[in-house]
Amino acid sequence: MAKRDYYEVLGVSKSSSADEIKKAYRKLAREHHPDVNKAKGSEEKFKEINEAYQTLSDPNKRSQYDYYGTAGGSGGSEGFGGEGQGFQGFEDFGEFGDLFDVFFGSQRGRRRAGPQKGSDLRYDLRITLENAAHGIEKEINIVHFAGCPTCKGSGAKPGTAPTKCSACNGAGQVRRTQRTILGSFAQVSPCPTCRGTGSIISTTCKECQGDGRVKKSQKITLKIPAGIDSGYRLRVAGAGDAGEKGASSGDLYVFIFVEQHVNFNRDGENLYYRTKISFVQAILGDEIEVPTIDGTATLKVPAGTQPNTNFRVKGKGMPSLNRRDRGHLYVLVEVEIPTKLSKEQAELLNSYKNA
Ligand SMILES: [Zn+2]
Ligand SMILES: [Zn+2]
Repeated sequence: MAKRDYYEVLGVSKSSSADEIKKAYRKLAREHHPDVNKAKGSEEKFKEINEAYQTLSDPNKRSQYDYYGTAGGSGGSEGFGGEGQGFQGFEDFGEFGDLFDVFFGSQRGRRRAGPQKGSDLRYDLRITLENAAHGIEKEINIVHFAGCPTCKGSGAKPGTAPTKCSACNGAGQVRRTQRTILGSFAQVSPCPTCRGTGSIISTTCKECQGDGRVKKSQKITLKIPAGIDSGYRLRVAGAGDAGEKGASSGDLYVFIFVEQHVNFNRDGENLYYRTKISFVQAILGDEIEVPTIDGTATLKVPAGTQPNTNFRVKGKGMPSLNRRDRGHLYVLVEVEIPTKLSKEQAELLNSYKNA
C-alpha cells in the first residue's frame, strides 16, 4: 500500500509552522487513540498519524522529507519506529496521559534527573493609582521554602554525610526500556531510591526532616516603577522556594493590581476625569480647578463651551514606564441645567428670551 503524504495525514499544509503541526497532531492523536477510538482501523490510523508526526516534528527529518519525499533512516534509540517495528499491544500503554507526556517531553517524560529547582511563587500586590503614578517602594512579607540553616540544605544531620545511592550508583537517574505500540524506546527517569539526588541520607537533619529546606517568612522590598499598570508583574530572581539539595531557587513573581481611583479612569498613560459646570459658566466662560494625580490644575473653559466637551490638560496623565514623557489628563465637561429657578432668575431669562 502506498504511503499517504505526511502533510495530508495530519491535514496541514507544507508551509505549516511547527506549532500548527503539533496542534494538528494532538487533535488527531486524541481522536484516533486506540484506547479512545474502538472503530476498526483506528490503530492503523493512529500509527500513521504518529509516523507522520515523528517526521514533521523534527526539523531535520522534515526538510529531508520535503526534499526526498522520505524520512530517511529511522531515528536513534530515543526515536519511535526504530527497533521493534511497531505494534506491541496495548497492555504496556499505561494511561493516555503518559503517552503524551513521553511524546511532548513534559515533566514525567524528560525531567532532568537530580535535585529539582525550587518553585516559582506568585504574590498579588494592590497599589493605588497615586503609587503607580509616582512609583513606590513596598515591603512585602512572603512565606517560602528557604535552605535549612541547620544542615545547610544537605538534609543530613550535622556531622554526618550522605552516602552514594547504590540503586543508581550515584548517577541520580535510571534508564529503562519501554515498549509501546510505537516500538520500544529508552526512558531516563530520576532514580526512585534517592529521588534523583544520587545520594542517600542515613541520619536526617531534625529541623528539616531531610528535605534540606524549611518554611520561612521573609521581608522583601520591592521597587515599583512609576507608570506601572495592572497586568504587569515584577520578577524577584531567586526569591521563590529554595531548590532541593542546593539546586537553584525559584523566582518570585509580583502581580500588580492598580486600584480604581475615585476621580480618574485610566487608559494606558492617559487619565480621564468628568466634571460639571453651570450653563452660565459654559456660556460666559470661566476658569475652573480640576484635580490631577499630583495636585490640582486650572482649566480655562472658553465662552460658548458646548455640553460634553473634552479638554486636554497636557502632561498631567500617567508617566510612561519606558519613556520620559507623560500622558495627558482629559476633562469631560458636562453642563448642568438647573431644575429650579428663583423668581429673579426666571425674570432675567425671560428678558433674555425676549431681547
Ligand atoms: Zn539513586
Ligand atoms: Zn536541615
